[in-house]
Amino acid sequence: MSARVLVTTAYLEPGGEVDRLLTDAGHEVVFARAADRKAGGQSLVEAIADADAVVAGTDKFTAEVISAATRLRVFGRCGVGFDNIDVAAATEAGVAVTYTPGVNRESVAELVLGQLVNGARLLPQNIAAVREGRWDQPSGTELAGSVLGIVGLGSIGKAVARVARALGMTVIAYDPYFDADFAGDHGVERGTLDAVLQAADFLTLHLFLDESTRNLIDGDRIAAMKPGAFIVNTARGGVLDEAALADAVRSGHLRGAALDVLETEPLAADSPLRGLDRVFVTAHIGAATHQARARSSLMAAGQVADFLAGNPRPGNLVNPDYLKGAR
Ligand code: NAD
Repeated sequence: MSARVLVTTAYLEPGGEVDRLLTDAGHEVVFARAADRKAGGQSLVEAIADADAVVAGTDKFTAEVISAATRLRVFGRCGVGFDNIDVAAATEAGVAVTYTPGVNRESVAELVLGQLVNGARLLPQNIAAVREGRWDQPSGTELAGSVLGIVGLGSIGKAVARVARALGMTVIAYDPYFDADFAGDHGVERGTLDAVLQAADFLTLHLFLDESTRNLIDGDRIAAMKPGAFIVNTARGGVLDEAALADAVRSGHLRGAALDVLETEPLAADSPLRGLDRVFVTAHIGAATHQARARSSLMAAGQVADFLAGNPRPGNLVNPDYLKGAR
Protein backbone atom coordinates (compact mmCIF):
# COMPACT_ATOMS: atom_id res chain seq x y z
CA MET A 1 0.00 0.00 0.00
CA SER A 2 1.25 3.46 -0.90
CA ALA A 3 2.13 5.67 2.04
CA ARG A 4 3.04 9.31 2.49
CA VAL A 5 6.58 9.56 3.85
CA LEU A 6 7.76 12.85 5.33
CA VAL A 7 11.53 13.41 5.17
CA THR A 8 12.81 15.96 7.69
CA THR A 9 16.53 15.17 7.42
CA ALA A 10 18.12 18.47 6.37
CA TYR A 11 20.73 17.07 3.95
CA LEU A 12 18.34 14.82 1.97
CA GLU A 13 16.94 16.16 -1.27
CA PRO A 14 14.35 15.18 -3.88
CA GLY A 15 15.82 12.85 -6.50
CA GLY A 16 18.42 11.39 -4.15
CA GLU A 17 18.89 7.75 -3.18
CA VAL A 18 16.45 7.87 -0.26
CA ASP A 19 13.79 9.47 -2.47
CA ARG A 20 14.33 6.77 -5.11
CA LEU A 21 14.28 3.91 -2.60
CA LEU A 22 10.93 5.01 -1.18
CA THR A 23 9.41 6.06 -4.52
CA ASP A 24 10.40 2.76 -6.10
CA ALA A 25 8.59 1.03 -3.23
CA GLY A 26 5.46 2.90 -4.32
CA HIS A 27 5.38 5.66 -1.70
CA GLU A 28 4.86 9.40 -1.97
CA VAL A 29 7.85 11.27 -0.51
CA VAL A 30 7.46 14.76 0.91
CA PHE A 31 10.46 16.84 1.94
CA ALA A 32 9.76 19.15 4.87
CA ARG A 33 10.71 22.67 3.95
CA ALA A 34 13.74 24.02 5.81
CA ALA A 35 11.56 26.82 7.18
CA ASP A 36 9.20 24.27 8.72
CA ARG A 37 12.04 22.52 10.48
CA LYS A 38 13.66 25.67 11.84
CA ALA A 39 10.39 27.08 13.11
CA GLY A 40 10.08 24.06 15.45
CA GLY A 41 6.89 22.62 16.96
CA GLN A 42 4.00 24.38 15.27
CA SER A 43 5.02 24.02 11.64
CA LEU A 44 6.37 20.51 12.22
CA VAL A 45 2.88 19.77 13.55
CA GLU A 46 1.43 20.89 10.22
CA ALA A 47 4.03 19.03 8.14
CA ILE A 48 3.49 15.74 9.96
CA ALA A 49 -0.31 15.91 10.09
CA ASP A 50 -0.93 13.73 7.02
CA ALA A 51 2.26 11.61 7.12
CA ASP A 52 2.15 7.82 7.50
CA ALA A 53 5.90 7.63 8.10
CA VAL A 54 8.81 9.94 8.87
CA VAL A 55 12.48 9.66 7.89
CA ALA A 56 13.67 11.78 10.78
CA GLY A 57 16.61 14.08 11.30
CA THR A 58 17.27 15.99 14.51
CA ASP A 59 13.95 17.84 14.75
CA LYS A 60 12.17 17.58 18.09
CA PHE A 61 9.29 15.14 17.78
CA THR A 62 7.57 15.99 21.05
CA ALA A 63 4.41 14.39 22.43
CA GLU A 64 2.51 17.37 20.98
CA VAL A 65 3.91 16.80 17.49
CA ILE A 66 3.24 13.05 17.68
CA SER A 67 -0.33 13.56 18.87
CA ALA A 68 -0.96 15.78 15.81
CA ALA A 69 0.22 12.99 13.49
CA THR A 70 -2.94 10.92 13.50
CA ARG A 71 -1.89 8.73 10.52
CA LEU A 72 1.70 8.21 11.60
CA ARG A 73 2.89 4.62 12.06
CA VAL A 74 6.69 4.71 11.95
CA PHE A 75 9.73 6.94 12.54
CA GLY A 76 13.02 5.93 10.90
CA ARG A 77 15.56 8.05 12.73
CA CYS A 78 18.76 8.71 10.71
CA GLY A 79 21.32 8.49 13.48
CA VAL A 80 22.43 6.86 16.69
CA GLY A 81 20.81 9.13 19.28
CA PHE A 82 17.00 9.16 19.28
CA ASP A 83 16.53 11.50 22.26
CA ASN A 84 14.88 14.03 19.87
CA ILE A 85 11.88 11.69 19.59
CA ASP A 86 9.55 11.28 22.57
CA VAL A 87 9.70 7.49 22.38
CA ALA A 88 7.24 7.02 25.28
CA ALA A 89 4.67 9.17 23.45
CA ALA A 90 5.33 7.29 20.19
CA THR A 91 4.92 3.93 21.95
CA GLU A 92 1.69 5.00 23.58
CA ALA A 93 0.37 6.20 20.22
CA GLY A 94 1.36 2.90 18.57
CA VAL A 95 4.13 4.43 16.44
CA ALA A 96 7.26 2.34 15.80
CA VAL A 97 10.68 4.02 16.16
CA THR A 98 13.84 2.69 14.50
CA TYR A 99 17.39 4.07 14.51
CA THR A 100 20.73 3.38 12.80
CA PRO A 101 23.41 2.27 15.28
CA GLY A 102 27.05 2.00 14.27
CA VAL A 103 26.82 3.98 11.02
CA ASN A 104 28.52 7.12 12.36
CA ARG A 105 31.35 5.47 14.28
CA GLU A 106 34.32 6.37 12.12
CA SER A 107 33.06 9.87 11.31
CA VAL A 108 32.63 10.77 14.98
CA ALA A 109 35.93 9.15 15.99
CA GLU A 110 37.77 11.15 13.34
CA LEU A 111 36.17 14.37 14.59
CA VAL A 112 37.30 13.47 18.12
CA LEU A 113 40.83 12.96 16.82
CA GLY A 114 40.72 16.48 15.39
CA GLN A 115 39.37 17.87 18.65
CA LEU A 116 42.12 16.15 20.65
CA VAL A 117 44.77 17.70 18.43
CA ASN A 118 43.02 21.08 18.69
CA GLY A 119 43.03 20.75 22.47
CA ALA A 120 46.64 19.61 22.68
CA ARG A 121 48.00 22.36 20.40
CA LEU A 122 45.25 25.01 20.68
CA LEU A 123 45.16 25.18 16.90
CA PRO A 124 42.00 27.31 16.55
CA GLN A 125 43.57 30.06 18.67
CA ASN A 126 46.86 29.94 16.82
CA ILE A 127 45.14 30.10 13.44
CA ALA A 128 43.09 33.07 14.69
CA ALA A 129 46.24 34.77 16.04
CA VAL A 130 48.09 34.43 12.72
CA ARG A 131 45.01 35.71 10.89
CA GLU A 132 45.13 38.76 13.16
CA GLY A 133 48.79 39.38 12.26
CA ARG A 134 50.50 37.81 15.30
CA TRP A 135 53.13 35.04 15.25
CA ASP A 136 52.46 33.30 18.60
CA GLN A 137 54.36 30.09 19.37
CA PRO A 138 52.86 28.73 22.60
CA SER A 139 53.93 25.34 24.00
CA GLY A 140 51.40 22.63 23.33
CA THR A 141 51.40 19.10 24.65
CA GLU A 142 51.87 15.74 22.92
CA LEU A 143 49.00 13.31 22.77
CA ALA A 144 51.49 10.43 22.82
CA GLY A 145 52.04 9.55 26.46
CA SER A 146 48.96 11.52 27.61
CA VAL A 147 46.02 9.79 29.28
CA LEU A 148 42.70 9.66 27.41
CA GLY A 149 39.68 9.00 29.63
CA ILE A 150 36.65 7.59 27.82
CA VAL A 151 33.17 7.63 29.34
CA GLY A 152 31.05 5.20 27.34
CA LEU A 153 33.04 2.47 25.62
CA GLY A 154 30.41 1.60 23.01
CA SER A 155 30.63 1.76 19.25
CA ILE A 156 32.15 5.26 19.00
CA GLY A 157 34.12 5.02 22.26
CA LYS A 158 35.85 1.91 20.95
CA ALA A 159 36.72 3.55 17.63
CA VAL A 160 38.21 6.48 19.55
CA ALA A 161 40.13 4.09 21.81
CA ARG A 162 41.70 2.39 18.77
CA VAL A 163 42.80 5.73 17.33
CA ALA A 164 44.18 6.92 20.67
CA ARG A 165 46.14 3.73 21.24
CA ALA A 166 47.63 4.05 17.75
CA LEU A 167 48.82 7.54 18.76
CA GLY A 168 50.54 6.13 21.85
CA MET A 169 48.03 7.42 24.39
CA THR A 170 47.21 5.58 27.59
CA VAL A 171 43.48 4.86 27.50
CA ILE A 172 41.30 4.34 30.56
CA ALA A 173 37.55 3.86 30.17
CA TYR A 174 34.37 3.66 32.21
CA ASP A 175 31.27 1.88 31.00
CA PRO A 176 28.70 0.10 33.19
CA TYR A 177 28.66 -2.65 30.53
CA PHE A 178 32.42 -2.72 30.05
CA ASP A 179 33.60 -4.90 27.16
CA ALA A 180 36.58 -6.63 28.79
CA ASP A 181 37.45 -8.59 25.63
CA PHE A 182 37.76 -5.42 23.55
CA ALA A 183 39.72 -3.73 26.33
CA GLY A 184 42.10 -6.67 26.59
CA ASP A 185 42.65 -6.80 22.84
CA HIS A 186 43.30 -3.05 22.56
CA GLY A 187 45.17 -2.26 25.77
CA VAL A 188 42.36 -0.22 27.36
CA GLU A 189 42.37 0.03 31.16
CA ARG A 190 39.14 -0.25 33.11
CA GLY A 191 38.26 2.43 35.64
CA THR A 192 35.37 3.66 37.74
CA LEU A 193 33.89 6.96 36.58
CA ASP A 194 35.78 8.78 39.32
CA ALA A 195 39.07 7.05 38.45
CA VAL A 196 38.67 7.96 34.77
CA LEU A 197 37.95 11.60 35.61
CA GLN A 198 40.94 11.83 37.92
CA ALA A 199 43.38 10.16 35.52
CA ALA A 200 42.42 11.90 32.27
CA ASP A 201 44.53 14.57 30.60
CA PHE A 202 41.87 14.44 27.90
CA LEU A 203 38.33 13.25 28.60
CA THR A 204 35.95 12.20 25.82
CA LEU A 205 32.25 11.41 26.29
CA HIS A 206 30.47 8.69 24.30
CA LEU A 207 27.35 7.76 26.24
CA PHE A 208 23.66 8.22 25.55
CA LEU A 209 21.58 10.98 27.07
CA ASP A 210 18.68 9.80 29.19
CA GLU A 211 17.45 10.71 32.65
CA SER A 212 20.16 8.53 34.26
CA THR A 213 23.00 10.31 32.43
CA ARG A 214 21.69 13.90 32.41
CA ASN A 215 24.35 16.17 33.93
CA LEU A 216 26.51 13.13 34.72
CA ILE A 217 29.57 15.35 34.34
CA ASP A 218 28.48 18.06 36.77
CA GLY A 219 30.38 20.74 38.68
CA ASP A 220 31.62 18.36 41.39
CA ARG A 221 32.91 15.86 38.86
CA ILE A 222 34.60 18.59 36.82
CA ALA A 223 36.23 19.89 40.02
CA ALA A 224 37.56 16.37 40.68
CA MET A 225 39.30 16.27 37.28
CA LYS A 226 43.02 16.68 36.86
CA PRO A 227 43.99 20.37 36.63
CA GLY A 228 44.72 21.31 33.03
CA ALA A 229 42.53 18.56 31.54
CA PHE A 230 40.65 19.06 28.27
CA ILE A 231 37.10 17.78 27.70
CA VAL A 232 35.69 16.62 24.37
CA ASN A 233 31.94 16.08 24.07
CA THR A 234 30.47 14.58 20.91
CA ALA A 235 27.73 12.65 22.76
CA ARG A 236 24.86 14.90 23.82
CA GLY A 237 24.86 18.34 25.42
CA GLY A 238 22.77 17.31 28.41
CA VAL A 239 25.38 14.88 29.81
CA LEU A 240 27.70 17.77 30.70
CA ASP A 241 26.90 20.82 32.86
CA GLU A 242 27.83 23.66 30.50
CA ALA A 243 27.74 26.41 33.16
CA ALA A 244 30.10 24.42 35.40
CA LEU A 245 32.35 23.71 32.42
CA ALA A 246 32.47 27.42 31.55
CA ASP A 247 33.42 28.27 35.16
CA ALA A 248 36.16 25.63 35.18
CA VAL A 249 37.66 26.93 31.91
CA ARG A 250 37.39 30.55 33.06
CA SER A 251 39.12 29.76 36.37
CA GLY A 252 41.91 27.90 34.55
CA HIS A 253 41.11 24.57 36.23
CA LEU A 254 40.48 23.07 32.78
CA ARG A 255 42.67 23.72 29.74
CA GLY A 256 39.55 23.96 27.61
CA ALA A 257 36.91 21.93 25.84
CA ALA A 258 35.70 20.95 22.38
CA LEU A 259 31.94 20.57 22.15
CA ASP A 260 30.12 19.23 19.10
CA VAL A 261 26.83 18.98 20.99
CA LEU A 262 25.09 21.42 23.29
CA GLU A 263 22.20 21.41 25.71
CA THR A 264 20.53 23.96 23.41
CA GLU A 265 21.41 23.90 19.71
CA PRO A 266 22.29 26.20 18.02
CA LEU A 267 24.47 27.90 20.66
CA ALA A 268 22.19 30.22 22.66
CA ALA A 269 22.88 33.97 22.64
CA ASP A 270 23.14 33.90 26.44
CA SER A 271 25.16 30.66 26.69
CA PRO A 272 27.84 30.73 29.41
CA LEU A 273 30.18 29.24 26.78
CA ARG A 274 30.15 32.38 24.64
CA GLY A 275 33.35 34.40 24.68
CA LEU A 276 35.54 31.55 25.96
CA ASP A 277 38.38 31.26 23.46
CA ARG A 278 39.44 27.86 24.82
CA VAL A 279 36.04 26.31 24.19
CA PHE A 280 35.80 25.15 20.59
CA VAL A 281 32.18 24.65 19.56
CA THR A 282 31.24 22.88 16.34
CA ALA A 283 27.69 22.70 14.98
CA HIS A 284 26.83 19.03 15.75
CA ILE A 285 28.85 17.80 12.77
CA GLY A 286 30.05 14.47 14.20
CA ALA A 287 28.08 12.47 11.64
CA ALA A 288 28.22 15.12 8.92
CA THR A 289 30.24 13.22 6.34
CA HIS A 290 29.00 12.05 2.95
CA GLN A 291 29.67 8.46 3.98
CA ALA A 292 27.91 8.48 7.36
CA ARG A 293 24.94 10.43 6.00
CA ALA A 294 24.50 8.01 3.09
CA ARG A 295 24.75 4.99 5.41
CA SER A 296 22.33 6.29 8.05
CA SER A 297 19.68 7.72 5.71
CA LEU A 298 19.57 4.64 3.50
CA MET A 299 19.38 2.40 6.55
CA ALA A 300 16.56 4.49 8.06
CA ALA A 301 14.64 4.66 4.77
CA GLY A 302 15.10 0.90 4.33
CA GLN A 303 13.66 0.28 7.81
CA VAL A 304 10.67 2.51 6.99
CA ALA A 305 10.12 0.75 3.63
CA ASP A 306 10.36 -2.64 5.36
CA PHE A 307 7.80 -1.58 7.96
CA LEU A 308 5.44 -0.17 5.34
CA ALA A 309 5.76 -3.44 3.38
CA GLY A 310 4.24 -5.20 6.37
CA ASN A 311 7.09 -6.09 8.73
CA PRO A 312 5.98 -4.95 12.21
CA ARG A 313 9.49 -5.50 13.60
CA PRO A 314 11.96 -3.81 11.24
CA GLY A 315 15.66 -3.75 12.07
CA ASN A 316 16.86 -1.68 15.05
CA LEU A 317 13.38 -1.19 16.45
CA VAL A 318 13.65 0.93 19.61
CA ASN A 319 10.18 0.29 21.04
CA PRO A 320 8.77 -3.20 20.37
CA ASP A 321 5.98 -2.29 22.81
CA TYR A 322 4.50 0.10 20.24
CA LEU A 323 2.41 -2.87 19.10
CA LYS A 324 0.38 -2.50 22.31
CA GLY A 325 -0.15 1.22 21.59
CA ALA A 326 -3.27 3.03 20.49
CA ARG A 327 -3.07 2.78 16.66
P1 NAD B 1 26.66 2.93 21.86
O1 NAD B 1 25.31 2.48 22.33
O2 NAD B 1 27.39 2.01 20.96
O3 NAD B 1 27.58 3.24 23.12
C1 NAD B 1 27.11 3.91 24.26
C2 NAD B 1 27.83 3.29 25.45
O4 NAD B 1 27.53 4.06 26.62
C3 NAD B 1 27.40 1.86 25.74
O5 NAD B 1 28.54 0.99 25.73
C4 NAD B 1 26.77 1.94 27.12
O6 NAD B 1 26.99 0.76 27.91
C5 NAD B 1 27.48 3.14 27.70
N1 NAD B 1 26.82 3.74 28.85
C6 NAD B 1 25.52 3.68 29.21
N2 NAD B 1 25.31 4.35 30.35
C7 NAD B 1 26.52 4.84 30.73
C8 NAD B 1 26.98 5.60 31.83
N3 NAD B 1 26.15 6.01 32.78
N4 NAD B 1 28.29 5.92 31.89
C9 NAD B 1 29.16 5.51 30.93
N5 NAD B 1 28.78 4.79 29.86
C10 NAD B 1 27.47 4.46 29.76
O7 NAD B 1 26.46 4.36 21.18
P2 NAD B 1 27.47 5.12 20.19
O8 NAD B 1 27.10 4.81 18.80
O9 NAD B 1 28.85 4.87 20.64
O10 NAD B 1 27.04 6.63 20.47
C11 NAD B 1 27.43 7.28 21.66
C12 NAD B 1 26.85 8.70 21.73
O11 NAD B 1 27.29 9.47 20.61
C13 NAD B 1 25.33 8.81 21.72
O12 NAD B 1 24.96 9.75 22.71
C14 NAD B 1 24.99 9.42 20.40
O13 NAD B 1 23.83 10.19 20.49
C15 NAD B 1 26.21 10.27 20.16
N6 NAD B 1 26.45 10.59 18.75
C16 NAD B 1 26.74 11.87 18.41
C17 NAD B 1 27.00 12.19 17.08
C18 NAD B 1 27.38 13.59 16.68
O14 NAD B 1 27.05 14.00 15.57
N7 NAD B 1 28.06 14.33 17.51
C19 NAD B 1 26.91 11.20 16.09
C20 NAD B 1 26.63 9.91 16.48
C21 NAD B 1 26.38 9.61 17.81
